[in-house]
Amino acid sequence: LKNFPYQHVLVLGLAKSGTAAAEALLKNGKTVRINDKKATKNDPEVIRLEEMGAEVVIGSHPIDVLDGIDILVKNPGISYENIIVDGAVQRGIPVITEIEIAAQLTDANIIGITGSNGKTTTTTLTAEMLTQSKQPVKVAGNIGIVATEVAQTINETDNLVLELSSFQLMGIQNFKPNIAVLLNIFEAHLDYHKTLENYKQAKFNIFKNQTSDDYLVYNANDESIIEAVKASYAIKIPFSVKEKVADGAWMDENSLYFQNEKIIDRLDIALLGEHNYENILASIAAAKLSGATNEGIQNVLSIFTGVKHRLQFVGKHKERMFYNDSKATNILATQKALSAFEKPVILLAGGLDRGNEFSELLPYLNRVKAMVLFGETAEKIKMLGEEAGISSICLTDNVQTAVQEAYNISEEKDIILLSPACASWDQYRTFEERGDMFIQAVHTLV
Ligand code: ADP
Repeated sequence: LKNFPYQHVLVLGLAKSGTAAAEALLKNGKTVRINDKKATKNDPEVIRLEEMGAEVVIGSHPIDVLDGIDILVKNPGISYENIIVDGAVQRGIPVITEIEIAAQLTDANIIGITGSNGKTTTTTLTAEMLTQSKQPVKVAGNIGIVATEVAQTINETDNLVLELSSFQLMGIQNFKPNIAVLLNIFEAHLDYHKTLENYKQAKFNIFKNQTSDDYLVYNANDESIIEAVKASYAIKIPFSVKEKVADGAWMDENSLYFQNEKIIDRLDIALLGEHNYENILASIAAAKLSGATNEGIQNVLSIFTGVKHRLQFVGKHKERMFYNDSKATNILATQKALSAFEKPVILLAGGLDRGNEFSELLPYLNRVKAMVLFGETAEKIKMLGEEAGISSICLTDNVQTAVQEAYNISEEKDIILLSPACASWDQYRTFEERGDMFIQAVHTLV
C-alpha cells in the first residue's frame, strides 16, 4: 500500500469489493474489523477472513464497531445515512471506498472513466482498442470486476481501465487516474446524493488529485463539465461531437479525428446510436493517449456492435432485427435507443414502478409502430402509447411472451427492441437476467 497511513480499518459491507479490500488490508499488515448486517458465521468468506485475522461483527450495526478505528472502507452502495457511516463522519473518521485501496496497490497506467451514461461502453471500447493495439490491459471497477483484486495482479507497465461510479468516487482520498475521462452529467441517483451539486461533485472527484502529468479527457459539449474542469491541473483533452477541437477528439459529417489525424470514417463504425459517438470519441482519446494505434482502433470500431444488454444486436430472423437494450433502466436510455433507429420499431418496455410518469418518452415514439408491455408500469406506458396514437399496443406477462407477441405482429424490416425504460426488479433479479431472457426467447424463435 503506497499511501495509506492508517492501521485500524473498519470494512463496512462484505460484498465482493468489501471482501477483497479486507483481504488486501490484512495481507498488508493492517488490523481489520468487518461489519456486515446480513452475513452469517458460516459464510465461507466470513470463515476465511476470520482465519486471516479479521474481527467480524455480523447481524447488526453496533455503533461501537467504530471504537479505535482510523478509517472506514464502505461498500459504494451503502448510504451516508447508514448509522455507522454517519457515526464515522461525526467522529471525523475518514470514509473511503475500495477503489482507494486498489489505487494504493498498483503503479499501472490507470484510465478512470465516469459519467452518468456510457461508462461501460466507453470502458469496454477503450480496453478493446488497447488490446487490438497489442497493449497489455485489464478492466475493473463498477463494470463488475473488483478493482482491488485486479490491482494486485497487474504489472506497472500495464493499463488498468476502471469504470467508476459516483458512489465510488465519493469515497476517494488520494486516488488519481493517469487519464481521467468525464463523459456527461445528467440528473441521476439523487436519492443517494441528495442534490445534483453533490452528485456532480462526486463525479468531479475523478480529477481532483490529478497533476500536470495527468490527462483529463472531457466532454466539451457539456456546460457543467466545461465549467468544472477549469479548476483542473491536468492536461485537458476535450472531445466534441459538435465542433472541431484541435487539441482533442472530434468529428465532422464524414469522419472522426484525434487532434489533426483522421482516425476512421463514420461509415466504417459498426456501433449504432448518435449517443455512442460521445463514447467512441472519448475512447479514442483515452486509447491514443495510452499508446493505441489507429489500426487497432479501426479494428475495434469496425466490428464492435455494443456491450451486452446495451443496444446489443442479438440477431436477424426472417428480416426482423432484434436488439437487447435491457440496461435501459430509465427514460433517458430508452430515448437514446429509440433515436438510434430509422426503421419502424416494435418496443418492448415496462418494469419496476418508481412512481414516475413516462411523458418524456412521447417525442420519441414517432418511430414506434407497436408496443408490447409487461411489468408494473405496463398500464402507464400503454396510456402514453395511446396518447402518441400507436394503434397496436398489447400487454403481456413477461419478456419471453413479449418476444413472441412482437414477432407475431411484426413485418419484414421491423426492429424488435427491448428497451424497458424501467428497472427490472419487479420481475427479474437484474437487468442482465431480463436481457438474457430476451436473448433466449429470440434464439427460441430462430
Ligand atoms: P453506464 O455504464 O454509464 O450505465 P452504458 O454504457 O452501460 O452506461 O450505457 C447504458 C445506456 O445509457 C445505453 O443503453 C444508452 O441507452 C445510454 N447511453 C450510453 N452512452 C450514452 C451517452 N454518451 N449519452 C447518453 N446516453 C448514453
